[in-house]
Amino acid sequence: MSVPPFVRHEPRAEPLPLVLDSPHSGEHYPDDFDHAPPRAIVRQAEDTHVARLWAAACDVGATLIEATFPRAYIDANRSLADVDTELIADAWPEPVAATRKSAQGIGLVWRLARGGAPMYSRRLLAAEVRSRIDNCWRPYHAALREALDDRHRAFGAVWHLNCHSMPAIGDAGADDPGRERADFVLGDRDGSSCDASFTRFVGDALRDLGYTVAVNDPYKGVELVRAHGRPGEGRHSLQVEIKRTLYMDEGTLVPHAGYAALSRDLGRLAAAVAGFVRSRCDGRRARP
Ligand SMILES: [Zn+2]
Repeated sequence: MSVPPFVRHEPRAEPLPLVLDSPHSGEHYPDDFDHAPPRAIVRQAEDTHVARLWAAACDVGATLIEATFPRAYIDANRSLADVDTELIADAWPEPVAATRKSAQGIGLVWRLARGGAPMYSRRLLAAEVRSRIDNCWRPYHAALREALDDRHRAFGAVWHLNCHSMPAIGDAGADDPGRERADFVLGDRDGSSCDASFTRFVGDALRDLGYTVAVNDPYKGVELVRAHGRPGEGRHSLQVEIKRTLYMDEGTLVPHAGYAALSRDLGRLAAAVAGFVRSRCDGRRARP
């Protein structure tokens, strides 16, 4: 990779146990990707602009981890076992527990581009997949884990927003084909990745800002909130999906006039969440 696989944006205010991550907004396409469809089609997999949209969260004390590699190259929101062995030319030596995502062509390494075209004109070598895991997936997961562990150690609890964006209408391969989505979809894996009060707070804050909100429908949250959300240990992870048409043209990925308003509202939401987090920390402060 010509660029590091992630950027860690530090708080620009007193640090809070609030960590955001944007695993799918990376735009640096590695030379060895070798995808078959045109780049414009492959880029439909991105959550373009999401890390930039949330940048104001650092002004209220959050830490933001941003992936720089493209989601279609290797998907940081999938488990290492979610491997589509049909895509691999030789043997895959690691354990495989493929999920529906792999069956849909969108597992750890995507077999299909959005719209259903094959991502590659050949099968990949296991060594290629291994290199993507070692150079992108592992460093990204380690960076997020370190940020969460660091804040949890200092405050005794941590709140995590796993930030994404979604097509406005479910496409043919989605769980909700043809259905118009809410402005925001919150996913807490049916109440298992964070305390219900956190999901409720974020949902209410978004409704107060005038947005429609759905919970766990059609997105419940995938690997990152599953791996890091353990509410019994004070680790609260919530997936946040933003409808792409709120801020950009879905075809060209170019921000439209709504981008500025959404960005401002996400800043307000982050400030509200910072207040929520502060109220739950019992006045604990980071160690010097
Ligand atoms: Zn995403």
